[in-house]
Amino acid sequence: MVTKPYDCIIIGSGPAGLTAAIYSVRAGRSTLVVSGPLPGGQLMLTDLVEDYPGFPEPVKGSELMDRMRKQAENLGVKFISGSATEVEFKEKPFVVFVDGNPVKGKTVIIASGASAKTLGIPSEWKFMGKGVSTCAVCDAFFYKGKDIVVVGGGDSAMREALFCSKICKTVTVIHRRDKLKAQKVLQDRAFATKNIKWVWNTEVKDFIGKDKLDAIKLLNNKTKKETTMKIDGVFIAIGHRPNTDIYKGQLELDEKGYIAVKDRTKTSVHGVFASGDVHDYMYMQAVTAAGAGCMAALDANEFLQGDEK
Ligand code: NAP
Repeated sequence: MVTKPYDCIIIGSGPAGLTAAIYSVRAGRSTLVVSGPLPGGQLMLTDLVEDYPGFPEPVKGSELMDRMRKQAENLGVKFISGSATEVEFKEKPFVVFVDGNPVKGKTVIIASGASAKTLGIPSEWKFMGKGVSTCAVCDAFFYKGKDIVVVGGGDSAMREALFCSKICKTVTVIHRRDKLKAQKVLQDRAFATKNIKWVWNTEVKDFIGKDKLDAIKLLNNKTKKETTMKIDGVFIAIGHRPNTDIYKGQLELDEKGYIAVKDRTKTSVHGVFASGDVHDYMYMQAVTAAGAGCMAALDANEFLQGDEK
């Protein structure tokens, strides 16, 4: 069956994707959002959002995303659940395969975001979901009253540590340097929390246990001393990697694997745009992603106007 191409297909349904969808449909363009493996994106794994303008009281990440999705649906955006598994950008209309099934678009906005990084130690995967996690909001409850570790020194690590401190007995932040990278307000809050402890200049080298995690092997990178720490759970919060695997060979990526954009949100393929964490590793905020989604939709609309002339 030949289906009419959408004016705009948006890959991803986080703040970038949904804002792009709202702007695209309001420009009168038929718009399809491919929801992706985590509909709503990373904010669905965030507890409270305090820095999104317009919400004087903290708002749950999931509620913020539900509201954006409802707004998009009310305006007439279509959604398809599933993940983009392959793209064909060499010919127009572009083709996006959603779990193997093709949908066509005159333009595509990639807003597929980024995912949590892991340490690259084989044993962390053995215990993923059995003592090791990358999401405190999802899993901290399983460690109620227990001793846990958070690895990392950035905003994510502080957020995870603060979240866990309300549920777990103790939270030990293990950081590879002696200084945090996190914003000061989060550092101050974490330092002031009694059950958060600190281990500096230390790297996790191995995860130990039988069916579930029992302990971790640590290396102090200053003294070179190795120790073993008994622990119930470890949350890895060391940053993110872009979800760009399916675009390799289809459009230009930068040296870190993020989508390269030039001239606002334009990628190396005319008619394909990128917005949010999939190309931005500097700001990575819900509000900057939303702003970039708006820009991408306006750029896509301008492209369509040019195309239609
Ligand atoms: P990040 O700022 O890149 O911090 C990653 C942390 O993990 C750093 O402290 C880094 O150490 C450490 N790390 C990286 N690789 C490691 C490894 N292999 N082993 C051990 N430690 C490792 O990442 P993020 O915290 O996820 O934040 C990313 C962006 O999202 C930032 O722009 C941040 O502001 C934003 N964000 C904001 C909020 C918020 O509440 N507003 C919440 C989460 C994220 P070094 O310090 O040595 O580099």
